[in-house]
Amino acid sequence: MSGNESRLLAVSEICKATPMAVEMPLPLNKIWADDVFNLATMEEYLSKNAFKAMKNTVQTGSPLDAATADVVAAAMKEWALTKGVKFFSHIFYPMTNATAEKHDGFIVTNSDGNAITEFTGSLLIKGEPDGSSFPNGSLRMTNAARGYTAWDPTSPAYVMHTPNGATLMIPSVFMSWTGEALDKKIPLLRSNAAMDKAAKKVLSLMGETEISTLNSSCGAEQEYFLIDEKFAYARPDLLLAGRTLFGAPPAKGQQFDDHYFGAIPERVQVFMQDFEDQLYRLGIPAKTHHNEVAPGQFEIAPYFEAANVASDHQQLLMTVMKLTAKRHGFVALLHEKPFAGVNGSGKHVNWSVGNSTQGNLLDPGSTPEQNLNFLLFCGAVIRGVHKFGPLLRAVIASASNDHRLGANEAPPAILSVYLGTQLEKVFMDIKEGNLAATEQGGQMDIGLGQILPFKRDPGDRNRTSPFAFTGNRFEFRAVGSSQSVSGPLVAMNTMLADSLNWIAEKLEPALASEVDKTAAVVMVLKELMDEHSNVVFGGDGYSSEWHEKAVAERGLKNLPTTADALPAFTSPEVIQLFSSTGVLSPVELESRYEVYSEQYVQTIEVEAKLVIDIATTKIYPAAMSYLSDLTGTYSSASSLGISLDTGIASAIASAASGMMAGVEKLKTAMGKHDFPDTEAHLVYCAKEICALMLEIRGYGDTLETLVDDSCWPLPKYAEMMFIK
Ligand code: ADP
Ligand code: MG
Repeated sequence: MSGNESRLLAVSEICKATPMAVEMPLPLNKIWADDVFNLATMEEYLSKNAFKAMKNTVQTGSPLDAATADVVAAAMKEWALTKGVKFFSHIFYPMTNATAEKHDGFIVTNSDGNAITEFTGSLLIKGEPDGSSFPNGSLRMTNAARGYTAWDPTSPAYVMHTPNGATLMIPSVFMSWTGEALDKKIPLLRSNAAMDKAAKKVLSLMGETEISTLNSSCGAEQEYFLIDEKFAYARPDLLLAGRTLFGAPPAKGQQFDDHYFGAIPERVQVFMQDFEDQLYRLGIPAKTHHNEVAPGQFEIAPYFEAANVASDHQQLLMTVMKLTAKRHGFVALLHEKPFAGVNGSGKHVNWSVGNSTQGNLLDPGSTPEQNLNFLLFCGAVIRGVHKFGPLLRAVIASASNDHRLGANEAPPAILSVYLGTQLEKVFMDIKEGNLAATEQGGQMDIGLGQILPFKRDPGDRNRTSPFAFTGNRFEFRAVGSSQSVSGPLVAMNTMLADSLNWIAEKLEPALASEVDKTAAVVMVLKELMDEHSNVVFGGDGYSSEWHEKAVAERGLKNLPTTADALPAFTSPEVIQLFSSTGVLSPVELESRYEVYSEQYVQTIEVEAKLVIDIATTKIYPAAMSYLSDLTGTYSSASSLGISLDTGIASAIASAASGMMAGVEKLKTAMGKHDFPDTEAHLVYCAKEICALMLEIRGYGDTLETLVDDSCWPLPKYAEMMFIK
C-alpha cells in the first residue's frame, strides 16, 4: 500500500471506530490495590513481628534484618501465587527516563525432576542484571559489567498481568559493582534523607521536641496526546521520534479555546475509565482527568504520595497508559511537543515536605506571618531556586522539552518563583525587617443568593511561572511530560537540604543573641531575602519584558536549550551541593552529565535521519508525482490552445529543490564528528543540526499546502488531532 493510500484508509476507518466496550467495571472497593503487596496485604500474610518491622521500614526508612526479609519473601511468594504469578522481576529505573525489568522464574526442579517454586529473602533482596548495556556515563566499562538491583521495601511490590500470565514486580535500586548509583531511585532516596536531616536541625532549633521522619511528597499532573494508532503507523516520525517532524498548521487549531475542560470524546472517556481501573488495581490513586488545551490533548493527575512511591507510580502510570491506549486502538504520545505550533505537554510536579508530627511544612495556614516553621521552609525554597536555578533547568533539559520551554504556552526557561500576592508581601516585608499581618482572602460574593458563599484563596494563580506556590506546596511546572519525576524531586529535595543547613547555621547564633524567636527568624530570613529576593516574580513569565529584565536586572539565567542547560551539572556549586549532602558523588554526577548529553545528541541524530528519510522517500516523491501530473495537464492544455497559470508548478518545483538542497546540507553536517568536548557537540546539535531540520521542514510544510491532498503521504495535523 502506498503512503497516501494508508493515510486515506486510516481516515475512513477511524471515522467508523467505536468505543471499545469493556466488561462491566467493578466498584472501587473491589479493585483498589488488588494487585499490590501493600501494608494492608502484608498484615494479612505476615506474622505480627515481621509486619511491625516492615511497617517501621516503610514509614521511617529504618533497616530491615535478613531474617525478616526471608519471612517477607515467603509471604510475598504465597500472595503472588494466588494471582497466578510464575515469574518475578526487580524493576528499576536507569538514568534514561525508562523503566527496566529482568524476569526470573519462581521455578526450580528437584532431583526427581519435579518443578517446585522457590523465592528466598536473598532472591528478594538482590538481583544481578547483566546491566552493561544501560547508560552509565563513565561509571562502568562493558568489561566491568556487574550491576546489582536491590529491593526497595519502601515502595510496594505489585503484580502485572497480561492475557497469558502474571509477573511479580519488585521496585528496586540499581548500582554498579563498586556501589555507585546507576539509577534514578538511589539519588531520590538519598535526597530525601538529606532533606530529613537538615529539616530536623532547623525544627529542633525552633524548639520542636518530637520530630518524626520527614518525607517529601509528590503529586504529578501528566499531560498527553491521544491519536488513533492508524495515523501513528502511517507516520515514521511519530513512531520513532514521538513527534511530527513535518506538518503544516491546520485551519483550526486551539484558537477557539474550546477544548480545555470540554466534553471528553466517548472513545477517549472509555479509554480513560479502563486506564484508571488498571491504575486503581495497582494502588495508584488517579484523581482528576480532563481535556487539555490542544485538540486531542488530555491530563491525568493522581493524588499525591510520598515522593519515592509517587515516582515509581509515575513510571508505572506511563507504562499502563501506553498499554491501555494500544488496546483501545490509540497511541498515547508522551512527547513534550508532538505537534509544532500547538500546545505541548508538561508534567507539573507538585511538591511539599512534611511529617506526622509537624504536618506539611509548606502549609502556611491562614496566618502565615505567625507560622515561623512555614516561613523558614518557604524561605529555604526561595533561596534554593535562586541559588540552583540552573540546576533546576538542567534536570528538566531534554531534546523534547526544548521544544516546549519558552514557547508561548509553557513556562519560560528562566527559573523564578511565584508566591502569590499575600506571601510575596510577607517576604518583601521581611526583607525590610518587618513581619506584618497578612491580607486575607475574604468571602466570595457574586451577588447571587442561590450560590452559597465560600472562602476565597488569599492569592491568585499564575500559569506563566515555572515554579509556583499553590497554597500548600510548590508546583514545578516546567517538567516535561515524558520525563521521570525523580530528577526534579532530587534537585528540589537537595536544594532544600542545602538551604535548611544554611538556615540552621544562621539561626543558631541568632537565637542565642535575640530574646525573641520571631525576631531571630526575621533576622535570618532578612539576610536570605537580601540575597535571593531577585528570584521572586509575580508577573507574566511569557512576556518579552520579563525575558529581558530577568537577565539584565535580576541576574537570572535564561537557558533556552539543553546545550545551554546541561553544563550546570559540571559547575562547582552543583558538584559541591551534591557531595556535601551525600546525594551524588562527583563521579556519579559527572556520569549523569555524560548520559544526558549522549541522550540529547542521540535524539537529535535520530530525528535528523528521519527528516532526511521522510523528505527523500515520502515528500519529494509525492511532490514530483503531482508535478508530473500538472506538467502533463499543462502540455495537453497548451496543445488545445488553452493557457493555464503554471505558478503552482513553479512553487512546487522551487520548494522541492529547496528541501533537497537542505537535505544535502544536513547530510554533510551530520558527517562532522570531531568535537573538542561534549559541550561543543551539544551546541553543534542545538545550533546547526536543529536549524537545518527546521529549514527542511519549512519547505516540506509548504509542499503540503501545494500538493493535491489525495497524494499527500502523511496524515495531516487536522486529521490526527480531530478524528477519534
Ligand atoms: P491543578 O489545579 O494544579 O491543575 P490538580 O488537581 O490537577 O491541580 O493537581 C494537583 C496535584 O497536586 C494533585 O496531584 C494533588 O494530589 C497534588 N497535591 C495536592 N496537595 C499536595 C501537597 N501538599 N504536596 C504535594 N502534592 C500535592
Ligand atoms: Mg491540573
